[in-house]
Amino acid sequence: MMFSSKTLVRWPQQSLARGRRLPLLRQVVAGQPRRSLHLAPPFLLDDYNPKYQLLSSIEASKKRSRAYAHLSNCNLCPRLCGVNRFETTGVCLIGADVKVNVIAPHFGEEPCIQGHNGSGSVFFSGCNLRCTFCQNHDIAHQRNGFDLTPEQLAEWYIKLQDTGGVHNINLVTPEHVVPQVALSILAARDMGLTLPIIYNTSAFDSLDSLELMDGLVDIYLPDFKVWSKDTSRRLLKADDYASVARESIREMHRQVGDLCFTADGIAKRGLLVRHLVMPGKEVEAESIMRFLADHVSKDVFVNIMEQYRPAAHVGKPKKERRRRRQVTEPGGVQHEVVEDDATQVRYAEINRPVTGHEVFSVRKAAEQAGLWRFNDAPKHDGFAI
Ligand code: SF4
Repeated sequence: MMFSSKTLVRWPQQSLARGRRLPLLRQVVAGQPRRSLHLAPPFLLDDYNPKYQLLSSIEASKKRSRAYAHLSNCNLCPRLCGVNRFETTGVCLIGADVKVNVIAPHFGEEPCIQGHNGSGSVFFSGCNLRCTFCQNHDIAHQRNGFDLTPEQLAEWYIKLQDTGGVHNINLVTPEHVVPQVALSILAARDMGLTLPIIYNTSAFDSLDSLELMDGLVDIYLPDFKVWSKDTSRRLLKADDYASVARESIREMHRQVGDLCFTADGIAKRGLLVRHLVMPGKEVEAESIMRFLADHVSKDVFVNIMEQYRPAAHVGKPKKERRRRRQVTEPGGVQHEVVEDDATQVRYAEINRPVTGHEVFSVRKAAEQAGLWRFNDAPKHDGFAI
């Protein structure tokens, strides 16, 4: 018999709330659970095999042959630049080779992703968005790093697995290098990779790209950043971000479902959506939470993040910040002075950290929408599953 996790968690608390504990035998009544589990059975896996290990050799070779077709007339993401990436670059600044900034076990992720040994993260240089507040500005807006072929990338996955002992391979900002990533996963599977693959994305993906990744990705880890067109135009330099993110996240959920864990508390399959709370954007966040609950799943695992800080272009002086003014000296002598107006900074409306009240109101909106699986510290001593 299946019990909902809410039933399992609430039942003993309700008993205590009435000021009495039921005798143990009376707790075992027909249809009621005897134990109070912290695990949510529908989201607990006995074991897990990565999806790419289940692909047939025919499906794998079809993916190989389709992977590079996009690059000569690049339509890999909603920018639809149409450039030949073997000769030039589009908005993402990356040609046909993958440029990687950092490869290392990473301990800055959710507990269910990083575990005790870290998440095997590959930070790709370049990005198809131009977020004015980019928190990884030095990686995403630059072309720093080293070039790797898909086979060399696959060898790094194996090193992360065999030497690093990491829990997964975490592909950070892969939207613009999907063909190379697909080929690297297929190469790594032949080299003995057995870790789950995480596609860690801004959600500004095309459905073509996601179709290519279908069967290769175990965990989708998208951001959902902002809701309104005005905001995405101004802050992300993309008019249609929210509509693309809505479509992408629904497709990701269709492919992998809700986030599931093995008994060690490590996520192995499913969707985890991140939302970085932005200064003054709580109303947009409420729309995002309602969308997730009503159009994706009430069981979506959500990380409401509060670490926003002004970065990249935010708070930088405006070009017209200096202003000239005529001054008349005693005695009537006039001359011009140039003043520095420190209030004239770029994107002033988000030039501050978020407040506790803003974070609280987004969380409240998420709960009111019906969401209940959050990246909270657990109330027991184990993992937050
Ligand atoms: S992946 Fe890069 S080149 Fe291709 S459409 Fe997107 S931004 Fe343009």
